[in-house]
This record gives sequence, C-alpha cells and structure tokens, in this order.
Amino acid sequence: MNIIDGKAISAAIRGEIAAEVAQMHQKPGLAVVIVGDDPASKVYVRNKHKACEDTGIYSEVHELSADTTQQELLALIDKLNADEKISGILVQLPLPKGLSEDEVIARIDPKKDVDAFSAINVGHIMLGDPIFLPCTPAGVMELLKRSGIEVKGKNCVVVGRSNIVGKPMAMLLLKADGTVTICHSKTRNLAEITAKADILIVAIGRAKFITADMVADGAIVIDVGMNRDENNKLCGDVDFDSVSEKASYITPVPGGVGPMTITMLLKNTIKAYKLQHGE
Ligand code: NDP
Repeated sequence: MNIIDGKAISAAIRGEIAAEVAQMHQKPGLAVVIVGDDPASKVYVRNKHKACEDTGIYSEVHELSADTTQQELLALIDKLNADEKISGILVQLPLPKGLSEDEVIARIDPKKDVDAFSAINVGHIMLGDPIFLPCTPAGVMELLKRSGIEVKGKNCVVVGRSNIVGKPMAMLLLKADGTVTICHSKTRNLAEITAKADILIVAIGRAKFITADMVADGAIVIDVGMNRDENNKLCGDVDFDSVSEKASYITPVPGGVGPMTITMLLKNTIKAYKLQHGE
C-alpha cells in the first residue's frame, strides 16, 4: 500500500509556482473576502494569505463585519473587479445568514473567479473545456497524476455530489476518460457500488464512513473529507486504518487532499493574471 503524500506533492508544486512568479514582471494578485467571524473560515483565509506570501503572489484580505449588507458586499466585489492589482477574487463561504451567496458569486468577473463557482465557469467545466479548474477536484487530479495513476478507462466512483467537490470531481474524471459513477445520500446499495471502484473518491463529510468491506482489494482511495472523530481529532470520510490494508494507494487526513486545494487556488490566480494580460 502506498500513502499519497499530499503535503510533499503540494510543497513541490508551490516550489514550481514560486519559481514561475519570480520570473513574472508583475505579480498576480488575490483578494480574499471574509464576512463575519466563523473561526474555521478565518483559519482558511489566513492559510490562503500565507500561501500567497510564500509563493510571491500579492494578496489582500478584506475582513467585513457580520452585519455587512448585500449592497456593501456587492460594492466591494465591483471595486475588486475593477482593480488591476487583483487577478483573482475569492469570497470565503459560507456567508452569514441574510446574504445571498449566489448573487455575490455571480457578481465576480468570470475572469477573476478563481474558485470556478460562477455559472459561466461551471458551464465551461461541464463542457469539458474549463477556464479555471475547481480547486479541490483539481488537487485530487494532480495527486493522481503525480502518483503515476492513470484514470483512462478506470471505474471511478465519486461519493458526494456537492457543487464544490462531488459534481466537478466527476466532470474532471470524465474528461480524463474515466468511467464515472456518482453516489449520494439516496444511493441504494452504496457498498456494492464502492466495492467495484478502481478509483474511489469520497467527499461526504461523515467521519470514517467508508470501511474496508466497502472497498475492493487494490483500489485507489482518495479521501476529501475533513471531520472530527470522537476524540476531536481531524479525520477523513474513510476509515484509514482498515481501508489502508486493502487499498493500493490511499490519501491520509490530514496531509492528503487538504494541502492541495490552496495550491490549486494559487495556480488559478496565475492563470487569471495571464488571462487578463493576454498571455
Ligand atoms: P456537502 O455537505 O455539500 O455534500 C455532501 C455530499 O455527500 C452530498 O452530496 C450528500 O448527498 C452526500 N452524502 C452525505 N451523506 C451520505 C451518505 N451517508 N452516503 C452517501 N452520500 C452521502 O459537503 P462538501 O462536498 O462541501 O464536503 C464534503 C467533505 O469534504 C466535508 O468533510 C468537507 O469538510 C470536505 N472538504 C474538504 C476540502 C479540502 O480541501 N480537503 C474542500 C471542500 C470540502 P445528498 O446530495 O444526497 O445530500
């Protein structure tokens, strides 16, 4: 069994990114907008800012209070859309109740939508011609690629159908010529389907939900989940201890998919800069 080391792969890609940014005349810029004081969101935003600093990407964080109005937030997006220093805009979700995430995402210039959440960018992903790759699924594809795993012709099962992970994940696997099945909470006989996967990707948000009996011998198992177990320890959606005995490759949590998401965001910020500068 091989453990896919997302931390090491992510560090290698960030090294490549830093080298590329160092060669650029002007620096790409990322604006991160956070509304309210959700502690988990604050940690994510801090990590994104630090990743930019470490790779030479300009970054600014806009911290708005929880009582910010929709109009104020939209006005900030308009300002960032027009700001030449800013190549990419990311609004940290979830937004406090009362604010419309859909309207805010739709307001971001599609050329600056580095999370690839807007209808235009989702449409491009669906057409098999993505402008920006969705960050977490792109991170998974990169982990597979850099581990020498080919997707073409493989039976790929994605558990979870969210707009952020499951659905775009399935599209990227399909684009890579995988045969893709998407499962969700209404799927019947889930274990029978997961047990047929050559590549099993799990993104459901249920601690240690996938157990060894649900996985084929030699399967490649990618765990996107981030949960707390009964001892408040970070863990994935896969029961790592038992499943790792059957899998040929497996990602740990932490240290698997997690570090890749921000790395792919950095790549998208560079892509956005190039798009806006006709490169
Ligand atoms: P959502 O809650 O938006 O979606 C969960 C999906 O899992 C839904 O499609 C749901 O089905 C499905 N599901 C829930 N329970 C079951 C079940 N018992 N059997 C089968 N399917 C089930 O979550 P996200 O996609 O946003 O996130 C999933 C996990 O990934 C979370 O742990 C999250 O923290 C983590 N995550 C990690 C990231 C990273 O960078 N590593 C980034 C983003 C998320 P239905 O649609 O029917 O309700």
